[in-house]
Amino acid sequence: MGLTRRATGRYAVDRGLYLRSRPEDRVIALAGNPNVGKSTVFNGLTGLHQHTGNWPGKTVANAQGRCTDGRRNYIVVDIPGAYSLSARSAEEQVARSFLCFGRPDAAVVVCDATCLERSLHLVLQVIETGLPVVVCVNLLDEAKRRGLTVDVPALSRRLGVPVVGTVAQKKSTLRRILRALGDLLDAPGDATPLRPVYSAEVEAAAAQVEDALQSVDLGKLDRRWVALRLLEGEPDLLDQLEETVGQPLRSLALPVDRGLLERDLAETLHLTARAICAETVTQTAPRGEGRLDRIFTGRWTAFPVLLLLLAVIFYLTMAGANVPSSWLASLFDRGGVALNALLSDAPDWVRSAVVDGVYGVLSSVVSVMLPPMAIFFPLFTLLEDSGYLPRVAYVLDKPFEKCRACGKQALTMMMGFGCNAAGVVGCRIIDSPRERLLAMLTNNLVPCNGRFPTLLALSAIFFAGRGGMVPALLVTGFVVLGVGLTFLLTWMLSRTVLKGVPSSYVLELPAYRRPQVGQVVVRSLLDRTLFVLGRAVAVAAPAGLILWLLAHWTIGGVSMLNHAAAFLDPVGRFLGMDGVILLAFLLGFPANEIVIPIAVMIYQAQGALSDTGTYAALGRVLIDNGWTWVTALCVLLFSLCHWPCSTTLLTIRKESGSWKWALLAALAPTTLGVVLCALVNVVLG
Ligand code: GDP
Repeated sequence: MGLTRRATGRYAVDRGLYLRSRPEDRVIALAGNPNVGKSTVFNGLTGLHQHTGNWPGKTVANAQGRCTDGRRNYIVVDIPGAYSLSARSAEEQVARSFLCFGRPDAAVVVCDATCLERSLHLVLQVIETGLPVVVCVNLLDEAKRRGLTVDVPALSRRLGVPVVGTVAQKKSTLRRILRALGDLLDAPGDATPLRPVYSAEVEAAAAQVEDALQSVDLGKLDRRWVALRLLEGEPDLLDQLEETVGQPLRSLALPVDRGLLERDLAETLHLTARAICAETVTQTAPRGEGRLDRIFTGRWTAFPVLLLLLAVIFYLTMAGANVPSSWLASLFDRGGVALNALLSDAPDWVRSAVVDGVYGVLSSVVSVMLPPMAIFFPLFTLLEDSGYLPRVAYVLDKPFEKCRACGKQALTMMMGFGCNAAGVVGCRIIDSPRERLLAMLTNNLVPCNGRFPTLLALSAIFFAGRGGMVPALLVTGFVVLGVGLTFLLTWMLSRTVLKGVPSSYVLELPAYRRPQVGQVVVRSLLDRTLFVLGRAVAVAAPAGLILWLLAHWTIGGVSMLNHAAAFLDPVGRFLGMDGVILLAFLLGFPANEIVIPIAVMIYQAQGALSDTGTYAALGRVLIDNGWTWVTALCVLLFSLCHWPCSTTLLTIRKESGSWKWALLAALAPTTLGVVLCALVNVVLG
């Protein structure tokens, strides 16, 4: 774990590697409590795009990037959010390993100006490690809005280290960090950092161990810090310490009452942080956040508000997507004609493979998927950025506990709405292996980016005739169903293969923040919309070609596609669908985005080719091929409940360390899907 030095000057950071291009490059650890804007600072400094969002626990592994201040090059390592170096969670262990044993040249500790006291606990602990520290008091705009003023120069004097104030989204303020770092590294001796003074007993014991350590070569490690850690005697930390120093040290520790020592250390840090805040922070206006939380997390209001918000988002998405979809469709039509003309000299089969195969699937993926995604993702990201999603997690906390799972599963489930593979990786924020597995195995039951276009398109096509809001309410219903099935499967697993008692944890509600609308729109378009579209296109192009080949490769006068679809037809019909749709689900294993385009492609290969760029045109093809609203309902259900896409499945295998769990993660939702579809087909079909 953490960082190991290699002879070449290479470092392994968690699983990544970074390279000092020149020996004078400086490695900077970017530390801070969760959700204080670390990733935003990181992105601003390095120009990279770590995912940011207003909830704690997003960064679970170290990310790295480069920047320069003209004087030096810096390698900035964004380590996971941590409240302290006592390393209670997996993220805190990664953070501590890097700060204490990763040999960074300095640390920038990002603090939240709106609750400085909590941030200062970590600052004091990092200063205590002996690392050169620059403190960055972020979210100054937010603090100002709430009537809080932080006296930055006074804070710097009190802590004895450089302190800068920032608003992470404003790059001009981030330059202050580099300036302070440069000055600190130029003249490291100028700072006289504050060291908390513990009780007389602890200080005496620490001094004695420090004496005993005189003869030990501790490298860059701070002697007082090592002495205190030896007294604390935390086994994991001591293992790393001894490994770094290269000799056993435990024998140098004195017998002390560990409970008393721990309380003394914690209390001293707490009192020191409080005293510093009392001197440097002033509150001029009362806080007014409670009212919003009473609505968003209130017993009677939380769920109606959540459902209403989701319904409005889906409605806006579907209502807004039609017009741009038809523009794109006619654009692609003209492109198709031009491509045909361009290939007029090529053999017929080449022209057909390119135009009907690759181009056909590609254009239908882009024109059906791009507009709804370009509306839906920015809206969803705004919810995320404002701090609303953790409120949803808070509301769902109790039900998860009832299922004997960890409430943090609500957060990983939220991440699953973006991408299930990301949600599965996010499960690292759950400490207990049992609860982590529960979260991983059920993550696929909430619809991801790749499945939303299917939900949106089929609801709009088959249910728009039943009233303006009906499709939006249906999609909302599917989201609720996904969450409900997550509870059901979690409950079933926690009573069978994953039995156990839920652990306790603290869920922190971050402050509401006015979302940075412009940035959210741009980021969600680039990070999510183009990412999903890019993936879909990358899979759709070869899929289009393979489908074309299968459609033209005949055995006994019947194409392979038809053979396969006919073979699957009885099972498909039993599930309220048909063989073509089932085949599309199977061929869509690499990416859920392409299931509907593949189905359309197969239908078209069987019959006449027609345009499917708009919801109306797509609807015509589906209805011509026998789809009814019951078929659509079954496809929607199966889309929600079937095996995870290949990326997610591989991620589950990697994170759980076993194919057994990955197999269960595929079988469990598929079984649910089969049961639900068969039921719907029997009752409504
Ligand atoms: P991390 O968990 O510490 O990496 O936090 P992020 O960088 O993901 O930021 C959390 C949220 O705070 C995001 O919504 C950011 O856009 C927002 N944010 C970060 N810095 C600031 C700031 O200085 N002012 C305001 N108003 N919002 C900020």
